[in-house]
Amino acid sequence: MAVDGDAIVRAVGTLPLVGNEEGLIPAFGLYLTRHFATFYNRTSFALLHAAEARSPEAAAVARASLVEAGHVCAFNTFGGIMLSQEWEAVVMPMVESTEDWVHGIVGVVNALGWGRWRVEALRGGEELTVSIANSYESEGYLADYPRRDSGGVCFLATGGVAGIMNLVYHGDIAARPALDDAFYQQLFHAPGRFNAREVACRAAGADRCEVVARRVAG
Ligand SMILES: [Zn+2]
Repeated sequence: MAVDGDAIVRAVGTLPLVGNEEGLIPAFGLYLTRHFATFYNRTSFALLHAAEARSPEAAAVARASLVEAGHVCAFNTFGGIMLSQEWEAVVMPMVESTEDWVHGIVGVVNALGWGRWRVEALRGGEELTVSIANSYESEGYLADYPRRDSGGVCFLATGGVAGIMNLVYHGDIAARPALDDAFYQQLFHAPGRFNAREVACRAAGADRCEVVARRVAG
């Protein structure tokens, strides 16, 4: 692997990711926000728990909606980063293969304060497994609620891992497509897309959260 994740974290850590006079954080060709993780967590988990109290079907809809928020985040944030001058300057000099795009964006994620991501397995074009030592979602869940019997809570991470594979292998972000609605529909709804599942979560007792993205069959 040519990509040095620690070097990416160091480089991104030197970027001035602070608000300008308008309160915006322009970086990577897009606008970032500095958000209270606790606020988004509590909103997400209130929705999850209300839906779980109602019915399994409602819970499934809530989970899918929260993962979809992760798809939108991945599309705009990861997609924007992969098209940015910062990516070109910091990451691309280390990129030798398509797989390196995946390692590169995981390096950037590790500079964003979402928890420490690690690529456990990557079969190019087929499957990606990412584990997370301290996802902010599981951290927030365990701070407010008892450990769950089952079911992961790292919805944004789940959508994010699917988004990485869709951007790199299903949408060919390297060809610099426009990040418009048509591209979004292709990435997350067209045949050949990737879906992700959280197969282990600290909120349900695992040591690390683990998210697996695979192509949707059929
Ligand atoms: Zn988790």
